[in-house]
Amino acid sequence: MSNSPLVAGSQPDPSSPSDVDELRARLARASAAADAAGLDALVVTPGHDLTYLCGYRALPLERLTALLVRPGSDPLMIVPELERPAAEASPVGGLRLEIRTWQETEDPCRLVAASVPTASRIAVDDRMWARTAFALRDAIPQAEWVTAGDVIADLRMRKTAVEVLALQAAGAAIDAVHAQVAGLLRPGRTEREVGGDIADLILASGHSQVDFVIVAGGENGASPHHEVSDRVLQVGDPVVVDIGGTMPSGYCSDSTRTYSIGEPSPAFLTAYAALQDAQAAAVAHARPGVTCESVDAAARNVLTEAGLGEAFVHRTGHGIGLETHEEPYIVSGNTRVLEPGMAFSIEPGFYLQGQFGARIEDIVVCAEDGVVNCNNRPRGLAIVEV
Ligand code: ZN
Ligand code: ZN
Ligand code: ZN
Repeated sequence: MSNSPLVAGSQPDPSSPSDVDELRARLARASAAADAAGLDALVVTPGHDLTYLCGYRALPLERLTALLVRPGSDPLMIVPELERPAAEASPVGGLRLEIRTWQETEDPCRLVAASVPTASRIAVDDRMWARTAFALRDAIPQAEWVTAGDVIADLRMRKTAVEVLALQAAGAAIDAVHAQVAGLLRPGRTEREVGGDIADLILASGHSQVDFVIVAGGENGASPHHEVSDRVLQVGDPVVVDIGGTMPSGYCSDSTRTYSIGEPSPAFLTAYAALQDAQAAAVAHARPGVTCESVDAAARNVLTEAGLGEAFVHRTGHGIGLETHEEPYIVSGNTRVLEPGMAFSIEPGFYLQGQFGARIEDIVVCAEDGVVNCNNRPRGLAIVEV
């Protein structure tokens, strides 16, 4: 694991998702969405929502930095005076957003209050620090305060063309890692040793950060979020390898393949064949117009028919973008209808305690008809010769 994804003052790249035109369009959509939701302002502090809206990967610190999106007026950045250079060096400079600064001895909440003088309904980003949210509320007590919730999530889940390209590049990078995993899986090595090598490969493949490395051999495969352990890999072990990182663009990869060190048991092979059918069925089903829960059902029905319904203990997938887990969630009960641009994982698995587990995971993006797959490594069980 390396640095935080939030790096202050990173340089804009014209071909990246923090391109000025792209960001300007996002800000306009956010303003329209806030207006439609009856909000007079959105207040967004450092985090993925801020990065999404203005490209500024500011560190979340105790001094207030906030983007104000105000329907009917231009957006505005409020930053500590000492961080003005960092803000200007970020895409905020290229966007030529108005920046208002506050001095060390000033109360920044007063600056926010003065910037939204007539606001009666204000939303804060879902992950604003509670102390910031309460201080803002105290500074503007006449306003109704709500969380931004779906207003920003609804924008983030519909990926633009440039975001889809970023997710495809992330997918290609993690595919390049999976292409080398079989060569690392040798009997006698520990999961931890293999995981360390994979982390190096994630960085070498173009990611700027390793987000997670799961190497789950034998019975450890029955724990979906196992990371690595000192368990020694043995001949006959199935090994679940689920890996992901963040690219310099800010967009994430996440892909799982299941390997086997030599021939696995016949029981495992039978179950794996059903899993591959389940994953393919969900990918084939996903398209604009179908619900999230129907994609889950497409995978789950196949596993249930194979007697593995109880062993599929998690939802089929999650949205992905600037974060590894975001909306939309591919889960029973989510009646949201898929639209072009929505990006999410399709990752059914089975988990049999004390025995083994397996998972196959691709990131897909809804296209006009069906989905585009960001991960294209073979999905059959990868048997490592020993
Ligand atoms: Zn997960
Ligand atoms: Zn994963
Ligand atoms: Zn995933």
